[in-house]
Amino acid sequence: MRILVISDIHSNLTALQAVMETAGAVDAVWCLGDLVGYGPDPNECIEKIRPLPNLTCLLGNHDAAALGMIDINAFNHDAQLSALWTQRQLTKENNDFLSNLSEIIYKENVTLTHGSPRNPIWEYIMDPYSAAENFKHFNTAICMVGHSHLPISFELNGVKNPQLKTHKSDSSFTASFKNKVILNPGSVGQPRDHDSRASFAIFEDTTLTWSLHRVKYDIASVQNRITQAGLPSRHAMRLAFGW
Ligand code: ZN
Repeated sequence: MRILVISDIHSNLTALQAVMETAGAVDAVWCLGDLVGYGPDPNECIEKIRPLPNLTCLLGNHDAAALGMIDINAFNHDAQLSALWTQRQLTKENNDFLSNLSEIIYKENVTLTHGSPRNPIWEYIMDPYSAAENFKHFNTAICMVGHSHLPISFELNGVKNPQLKTHKSDSSFTASFKNKVILNPGSVGQPRDHDSRASFAIFEDTTLTWSLHRVKYDIASVQNRITQAGLPSRHAMRLAFGW
C-alpha cells in the first residue's frame, strides 16, 4: 500500500490541499494529530480529512485543547487564544469526530501516535536522548510521531545509541526490520525547520520505504484568513519563515 502520512495540519486548508494534490493517489492516509489549532480553517480541514478512505487519525494536544479535554494553561498565550477561538468554531459533527480519535494505535509493523509512545499527547521527540527512552515504549519495528513539526528520524543502532537523522526534502531511506526507527513526517500546516513549504511523507508498507516531500502553497492567503479571523498575528507571520 502507498500510504500518505501527515501530521500537524493546524487548520491550514491551503497547505493540506497542496499536500493532497502533490501526493496523488494513495491507498490510505495516516494522520498523526493536531488537525486544528493556530490556523483559520478548523472545520474545513477536518471535513477534508474525515471522508478519506482507509483513514487512521490520531488525537493531538491541540485537538484535545479544542475539545476542552486538557488544561490550556500549558499553552502559550497566543496558542490559548487560538484554542478558545477553535472551540467556538467547531461544528458538532467535527467536534464528535475529534472526540473519537485515539491517542495511540498499533498496526502490524507500525505504532502511530502524536507526541511519543511514552506520552502520546505531550512529549516531543527532538533529540537522541528522548528517542532512546521512547524506543523502550513500543514493540513494532517502526513508530511514527508528529508534534515537533520537524521531519526527522531516529534509528536505533545495536542496543542503544539512536542516531538523529534530519532528512531534507525529497530524501528517502528504507526502514529495516533489524533497526527500530522513529519517523516524523514534519508538519503540513506549520513547519518549524525554517523551510516554509508544507511537509509530508509517503510510506510503502510492503517495502517499508519512507520518503519525505515538501510542497509550496499560497501562504499569503492563509495569513489573510488568520488576520480576518482575528487570530494572533504571530501565527500568520511565522508561516512565511517556517518556524
Ligand atoms: Zn502541532
